[in-house]
Amino acid sequence: MTVIEHINQAKDTVISFEILPPLKGKGISAIYDHLDPLMEFKPAFINVTYHRSETMFKKKPDGTFEKVEVRKRPGTVAICAAIMNHYKVDAVPHLICGGFSKNETENALIDLNFLGVDNVLILRGDAPSNETFFEPEPDGHRYAIDLMKQVANMNNGIYLEDDLKGVVKTKFCMGVAGYPEKHFEAPNMETDLRFLKAKVDSGAEYIITQMFFDNQRYFDFVKRCREIGITVPIIPGLKPITTKKQLAVIPRTFYVDIPSELANEIIKCKMDEEVAQVGTEWLIQQSKELKNFGVPVLHYYTLGKASVIAKVVKAI
Ligand code: FAD
Repeated sequence: MTVIEHINQAKDTVISFEILPPLKGKGISAIYDHLDPLMEFKPAFINVTYHRSETMFKKKPDGTFEKVEVRKRPGTVAICAAIMNHYKVDAVPHLICGGFSKNETENALIDLNFLGVDNVLILRGDAPSNETFFEPEPDGHRYAIDLMKQVANMNNGIYLEDDLKGVVKTKFCMGVAGYPEKHFEAPNMETDLRFLKAKVDSGAEYIITQMFFDNQRYFDFVKRCREIGITVPIIPGLKPITTKKQLAVIPRTFYVDIPSELANEIIKCKMDEEVAQVGTEWLIQQSKELKNFGVPVLHYYTLGKASVIAKVVKAI
């Protein structure tokens, strides 16, 4: 079933989770151990992130260094298949522009279609950690909207080779990312929203937001989206803060603010266990308010914090 079908059929707010593929070398049990405690909440769908290769410098026996490409978290497509098979829950793979040629993208989409995956979350991806700006592959896509157009073409039976006969039309339901606090590269909110609207006008059926810790940011974002004619569901992305270090890491990594009330409570904590309690309580209050507001889905970035997310979902 597609994400949009889940939303349309639900009588109330539904739950969904986002997970990361485990680090290379771990088995599928790492995924099941993480998800098992969360399955009692009957998630409508589970997103699986995609992580591109990074360039690293590996020391050789002679003391010099060699440049190597390392993919620390492979397996997105296979993990989606495993989730759908094991839990009978729809999985949503993240598909990114970065590191992919159009041909590789098409092949990945063909695999997903064979596996019965109905959904894709379409993203640009970021520059690798050793580069400052995002650069597409020579025959790849620069923006998420360009990748969306390739998927939309396949949904219309248009593949890269135009002489294929009797082609199958794929039926991918496409979601895209939105930023209540603005994408970090966008010159201003208005321009960012204009590009978001273009993604929706090109076929995105829903938006999942970047995490935020102040619900007012989400409410304002939804209002501005509606004012410019974005009518699709806007799913809030939510994450718990569990360590003091995150006070600095989250704003630097995700370009989002941590409200002073929450930051002050965390600063007062002596141990990370106390921080996790504060972060969990904050996320419970955030979730309850969003549910009352009538959001279609509460989407949790679980990031190895299954026990915290389980407490939050139980409380709401
Ligand atoms: P785009 O929509 O392409 O936008 C990127 C920037 O370009 C924005 O500033 C936008 O305003 C601007 N822009 C858009 N279109 C145009 C245009 N036509 N002309 C000029 N400017 C334009 N990253 C991963 O690597 N893997 C993941 O699994 C992953 N999952 C994510 C899940 C969610 C819910 C979110 C919110 C983000 C995720 N990301 C992931 C991070 C994401 O890839 C980055 O935030 C990336 O920098 C932007 O991706 P995007 O799809 O929003 O890009």
